Amino acid sequence: MSEHQYAMVMDLNKCLGCQTCTMACKKQWTDHDGMEYMYWNNVETRPGKGYPRNWDGIGGGFDRYGQLAPSPLPVAEDYGKAWEYNYEERIFDGGKKSVQPNDRKLSWGPNWDEDQGKLNGADNFYFYLPRLCNHCTHPACVEACTRKAIYKRAEDGIVLIDQDRCQGYRHCIQACPYKKIYYNEVLGKSQKCIFCYPRLEKGKVNACAAQCPGRLRFVGLLDDPESPVHKLVLKYKVALGLLPERGTGPNVYYVPPFNPPRRANYGKGLLDDPRIPLGYLKYLFGLEVIDVLKRLETELAKAQSGEQSEILQLLIGRDAEVRYRIVDVHTMQPFDSSPTHLLQLGLIKR
Ligand code: SF4
Ligand code: SF4
Repeated sequence: MSEHQYAMVMDLNKCLGCQTCTMACKKQWTDHDGMEYMYWNNVETRPGKGYPRNWDGIGGGFDRYGQLAPSPLPVAEDYGKAWEYNYEERIFDGGKKSVQPNDRKLSWGPNWDEDQGKLNGADNFYFYLPRLCNHCTHPACVEACTRKAIYKRAEDGIVLIDQDRCQGYRHCIQACPYKKIYYNEVLGKSQKCIFCYPRLEKGKVNACAAQCPGRLRFVGLLDDPESPVHKLVLKYKVALGLLPERGTGPNVYYVPPFNPPRRANYGKGLLDDPRIPLGYLKYLFGLEVIDVLKRLETELAKAQSGEQSEILQLLIGRDAEVRYRIVDVHTMQPFDSSPTHLLQLGLIKR
């Protein structure tokens, strides 16, 4: 058990699917050899197969007896690969060809099924699901690593892989139910999201959160009553972890998408059942999602009738000071990022 736990809340009602977070992370952390296919942060369209393909359908995490339940390893085709487009053909060949990937045999890649969702007429719906390592409270990856290379930091609960100890056995990838560890073939090591700990230690929020134009990411310590994540998860109870039944205790939480009634085909009014089948939301976020949706609807009705809703005010999150509370975990006070303090902590050199 760690002393404190960093957590992130994402309000799915605000995600634009723009992938700015994905690019912010890629540029900051995975712009090196062997990391080309790695998306420590990715944003996928749901319902959809995600990245790697079918990650949620193959297992991982713990079974009902608390035993590790490893999945098969995803294969290269489940990740796909980066590709170039046929711009030359399009521009110089009389414009006869449409723009397509140069490799016509591709069958999957990151964000492959973007915006497809469920395709049938009035049943159609989709939403975006940004994903990163959940820095779980009971990380299956840590338990599965026979080299004891993966550890959970005592001071803030961030889960890291010691690159010197890792031998690339990939038991961690099989164990993680979210498939958020990637194998670097060049180095022969497993690598994953580090929750931007070098940024946090200087009082800066995670790169994905800093760049998000939807302002939907909230960051702080779960056990800090002043932090937005404490309020959204523990006080107001409007955010839930993904696939909770896998037993790892994820610390990335989601405010589920509002779920108004479905529209009939060709604008013929509203139907009785909700836009997103409740079974699908229960599958993603557990049974509690029903109560969370009710809570959100109550708050929405309050705001619509002119009353103040603290929860919705917080979720609007206009200012960075509302969305993030990065504290020095030793003092639990907002981070002092003055050069003198950073020198004292040994985080910068004179
Ligand atoms: S999400 Fe996966 S990789 Fe991250 S801590 Fe949990 S089990 Fe480990
Ligand atoms: S940057 Fe924000 S809005 Fe854009 S895809 Fe990522 S989480 Fe969604």
